[in-house]
Amino acid sequence: MREAGRIVAVLLSELRERIRPGVTTAELDRLAAQVLAKHDATSPFYNYPNHDRGKRPFPGQICASVNEELVHGVPGKRALKEGDIIKIDCGAVYKGWIADSAWTFAVGKINPAAQRLLEVTEGALYASLKEAKAGNRTGDMAHALQHHVETHGFNVVREYVSHGVGRRLHEDPQMPNFGGPGTGSKLRKGMTIAVEPMVLSGTYKTKVLPDQWTVAAKDGKLTAHFEHTIVITDGEPEILTKLN
Ligand code: MG
Ligand code: MG
Repeated sequence: MREAGRIVAVLLSELRERIRPGVTTAELDRLAAQVLAKHDATSPFYNYPNHDRGKRPFPGQICASVNEELVHGVPGKRALKEGDIIKIDCGAVYKGWIADSAWTFAVGKINPAAQRLLEVTEGALYASLKEAKAGNRTGDMAHALQHHVETHGFNVVREYVSHGVGRRLHEDPQMPNFGGPGTGSKLRKGMTIAVEPMVLSGTYKTKVLPDQWTVAAKDGKLTAHFEHTIVITDGEPEILTKLN
């Protein structure tokens, strides 16, 4: 999983270099396929089954979600514009082990409100990680995340969760973006979790777009997403997907 995490971080940094006005999310997806192949890895997202029976599996290597789009964005013809924010969610399967990480990037110069949303969402990730130690519970992490977001005037998603990760992309425990201290699953040394604040600048309501995958803010306002795969220890968690 450390090696899978390192590959995910390299992939995210290569995508970050490519992000600029005019680039399409399909171009980023093709780059992701090349980078994963170069590292003998594959995408755990490609062909991921849709939880709505009968709908198409995920068609991309990465999720690319722009502005009001929050998660599960299907890469396509959309060209990035100056001032956009783009959420890139990446995973790698390496020798059967998976790591999962997401980052929100600015396209060129963004306005101060968007910048603040990015800072608060990244801050929520680290606030949550401060509670990520053996003996605590998932609710301690979720509460720290939610408190950080709401005291800054934003909202956390309700329908999507942080999750255990390992041999499979989504394992137990599930950890909502909200919760009470002392609730949820007990954290144990060696557990590996993908911690992912998903934050909306308007209301927390989301909708799935007609492409059957992309989740966007119902009110069309900006959203942000950051995610690291971590290992629980007796002290500070080990971050497997640290971005250089
Ligand atoms: Mg992810
Ligand atoms: Mg995840």
